[in-house]
Amino acid sequence: MEDRLAAVKGMNDVLPPESGRLGRFLEVGRRLLVAHGYREIVTPIAEYTALFSRAVGEVTDLVEKEMYTFPDRDGRSLSLRPEGTAGAVRAYVQHAVHKAEPVTKWFYAGPMFRHERQQRGRYRQFHQIGAEVFGIAEPGVDAEMITMLVDLLSALGVPQARARVSSLGCAGCRPFFRERLTSFLRPRAADLCEDCRRRLDQNPLRLLDCKKEICATTRAGAPSTLDVLCAACRAHLDAVVADLAALSVPHQLDGTLVRGLDYYTRTAFEVHSDAAELGTQNTLVGGGRYDGLVEELGGPSVPAIGFAMGVERALLAIPAEPPPAAVDVFLVALGEPARRWAAARARSLRAAGLRVDLDHRGGSPKRQFRRADGLGARLVILVGDDELSRGTAALKDLRSGEQQELPQDALLAEISRRLSG
Ligand code: AMP
Repeated sequence: MEDRLAAVKGMNDVLPPESGRLGRFLEVGRRLLVAHGYREIVTPIAEYTALFSRAVGEVTDLVEKEMYTFPDRDGRSLSLRPEGTAGAVRAYVQHAVHKAEPVTKWFYAGPMFRHERQQRGRYRQFHQIGAEVFGIAEPGVDAEMITMLVDLLSALGVPQARARVSSLGCAGCRPFFRERLTSFLRPRAADLCEDCRRRLDQNPLRLLDCKKEICATTRAGAPSTLDVLCAACRAHLDAVVADLAALSVPHQLDGTLVRGLDYYTRTAFEVHSDAAELGTQNTLVGGGRYDGLVEELGGPSVPAIGFAMGVERALLAIPAEPPPAAVDVFLVALGEPARRWAAARARSLRAAGLRVDLDHRGGSPKRQFRRADGLGARLVILVGDDELSRGTAALKDLRSGEQQELPQDALLAEISRRLSG
């Protein structure tokens, strides 16, 4: 196919049965978040670019290199959202939600866009399920969120989920860390990539998540955020870790974890899986506290914490099961009067909640049965002129091979009995 008519590189079609896996994943995710007291929000896929530069940070890979940014027809710069927190916080501030409730628990699920180098587990359009809690500064909610994520991943079938936890400090202690880090890296600047050399003065924390090998080597032995936490940040982190231990959540403290976004304060975490399919892209969830962001975006001073889970990446970690059947019941009709009867019956069975199909092309019974098989139907209703004249239909159970002729008004009860058996 001509290149310009193919899907955009890194933005993938999701076709059955994979689309079914994606849908079921989102369903289970939604159910679990609702069970934890979260309610769903839907925010626009595009926002004014300034929101992301302000929230995520001007000097970050995400904003400098990865956003899909374009002028709209009025000349204002828009960007496709690269992440969900900026939009959620914008909505929280814009609708003054803090005035209506002291604590807000929101979740979202939808596509995000980043112009990254494509590889397995890394795409330019991908889905995230994320959540935000506004209004709680206490560490209990940090530990609860991390616990929920480990539980969620195991409920979704992701093997060996474990958390890495760190603290990025607060406005009080972070400047000390920044200073220590800069003093460590400045004499080594010649061994940093060009981006990192530039960021050394602007945003030295970002040097910690540069993926280039030369920078990773140069960083070895750099001070850790954990060395310079103030007493309040230290106590917060200790409390999170104590809760995680009490809840037996697999976790490890890791001072090298910094996350790629500027808005985090105090707790930062990731959830990983050791599933072999993931290779190096084994971070399934990233999150942390962002106590200053609501205020930064023009709202009141409200503490908050959130996470985002990469759906495609989590799906890679879940062993694929055979795809479920597309329908429960298939109607095989012989002749036009039977086809019309079957169409009406399909409608009433669908209204009763069953997954039902028939083949409007008609054709031989053999061909129609082949179609029933292809869709994975468990039961086939077979009708022709004879059955119609008797007011009956044949019901065939494709699993056991049994076939019986039934009065038409007894079909639904027998179908339900067989499907539940
Ligand atoms: P972040 O918003 O960068 O903290 O990412 C949170 C999670 O989203 C990551 O742990 C990944 O699971 C997922 N993710 C981030 N970027 C991508 C991408 N380009 N393709 C697929 N998943 C991604």
